[in-house]
Amino acid sequence: MAPPSTIHSMVDRSSGELLSFHEAAALVANYAQSLARNKPATESIALAEAAGRVLAETLRADADQPPFARSTRDGYACRAAEASTHRPLRVTGAIRAGDPPAGSLARGAVWEIMTGAPVPRGADAVVMLEYVESAGTPTAPTIRLLPPRTIKAGDNVVLRGAQARKGALLLPAGTPLHAAQIALAAACGCAKLKVFKKPRVAILSTGDELVPITSTPKPGQIRNSSNAMLAAMVSAAGGEPWTLPIARDTAKSLDAALARAASADLLLITGGVSAGKFDLVEPALARAGVRFHFTGVRIQPGKPLVFGERPRGSTKHALNRNGTKCFGLPGNPVSSAVTFLLFAAPVLAALSGRIDRGPRFALARLGSDVKLKPGLTRFLPAACTFALPIPEVDRVPWQSSGDIAAMARSNCYLVVPEDCDHLEAGSTVRILLP
Ligand code: AMP
Ligand code: MG
Repeated sequence: MAPPSTIHSMVDRSSGELLSFHEAAALVANYAQSLARNKPATESIALAEAAGRVLAETLRADADQPPFARSTRDGYACRAAEASTHRPLRVTGAIRAGDPPAGSLARGAVWEIMTGAPVPRGADAVVMLEYVESAGTPTAPTIRLLPPRTIKAGDNVVLRGAQARKGALLLPAGTPLHAAQIALAAACGCAKLKVFKKPRVAILSTGDELVPITSTPKPGQIRNSSNAMLAAMVSAAGGEPWTLPIARDTAKSLDAALARAASADLLLITGGVSAGKFDLVEPALARAGVRFHFTGVRIQPGKPLVFGERPRGSTKHALNRNGTKCFGLPGNPVSSAVTFLLFAAPVLAALSGRIDRGPRFALARLGSDVKLKPGLTRFLPAACTFALPIPEVDRVPWQSSGDIAAMARSNCYLVVPEDCDHLEAGSTVRILLP
C-alpha cells in the first residue's frame, strides 16, 4: 500500500543528506502505522499453538471474572466490623475451593474458608488463619482476630466481576499472544483463537565472498552467517522466514534473485548497499521497480541502510497484492542486526497485524565512560545486568561491525546520541533491547 505523501516528502533526496536516526525512525513508525490499516488475513489455531502469534479478534470475558466472590486467603469469612471488635466469633461452617457458592453467614459467626473458595453470602472479608486465635470447644469452636490487627470490608476478597464483567473487552485485536494472554484466553474457554497469518519474509544474502554454512570457506570466503541470524530474528518477531540462495555481486544474479522474491511481503537483503564498486543492490532494487523511502541513515552501525517498496500491483503475485516492502541491510552482521531491530522489525510488526511495533528501549546505568566522535547515533553491542537495584550496562569490546563474537556476548545495544561525545560512568543511558 502507498504510504502517506508526507512520508516521501520527508526525504530530501536532492541534497544527498542522510536522515538522522530520529527522522528515519519517525518515517518508519508513520509508515508502519499506515500499513496497519490493512489487516492481514486470519486463521484459526489451537490455543496450544498460539504463543508468539498475534490475536486477530477481540477477546471478551465470557463470564464475570471472577465468576463468584472469591477468597484470596486461607482463613475465616467474616463481617469485618464484627471481627475488628476482637470478640470471639462462632465457627458455623466451612467452604473450600470447588464448593458451590453457599451462605448465608449468621450474625456473630464466621466460616472457615480456603483460598479460591466462594465467600458465603453475608461475609464481606476474610481474616487470615495466621491472625486469629482459636478457642471454644470441639463442638462449638470460636476464633477471634488478634488485636491490635483490624480488618475492613473487602480485605482478602475479590468480588464477583471485579477483574472483568461478562462481555468486557479483555484484549484488542493486534495483541501479541504470550503466556499471560494465553492464560486469559484459557480462562475464557477459548480452545481456539483467530490469529493473523504470518507475513512471508524473504531473506536474501548477497556477496561473492559468501558460502553456505555447510561449506568450508576457501581463502577469501566466509560463511553466510547473517542469513541464519535474520531468520531467527524474523521468527522471533512473528514472521515466516524464507531463505533464498546467496546472490552474487552481479546485476544478473541480483535481478534473478529479486524476481524470485517478488511474492514476499517483506524482503531483507544483506550486503551490497555501501558505496563500493560491487555494491549493486540499490540499482538492482531500482530496476525491480522499488521506490525508496530513504537510502542511508546517520547511525553506526548501519549507515548505508536502504528502505523502499515495490509498489502494489507491480507484480502479478496474488500473495502480495500490497507490494513487497524492501530493506537493504548493510552486510556486516552487527549492522544487519541493528538495522533490523530499529527499522525492519516495526514494519514486520505492522505486516503481522501487531499494535505494538517497537523498537524497544530501556534505561540503565553506565558502568564505564564511553567516548566517541559525535555525528552518528550509535548502537553499540553491550552487556546489561538487568538486575536490581538498577540494571548496569557496559560496552562489549568489538572489532567493528563484523564482530559476531562480540555481538554474541552482548544482550543489548548501548545508544549514544548523535550530538554526544562522552557518556559518563554512572549516568543513566538508553539501551536498545534485542
Ligand atoms: P557489504 O555490505 O556487502 O559491503 O559487506 C560488508 C561486510 O559484511 C563484508 O565484510 C562482508 O563480507 C560481510 N558480510 C556481508 N554479507 C554477509 C553475510 N551474509 N554474513 C556474514 N558476513 C557478511
Ligand atoms: Mg558485499
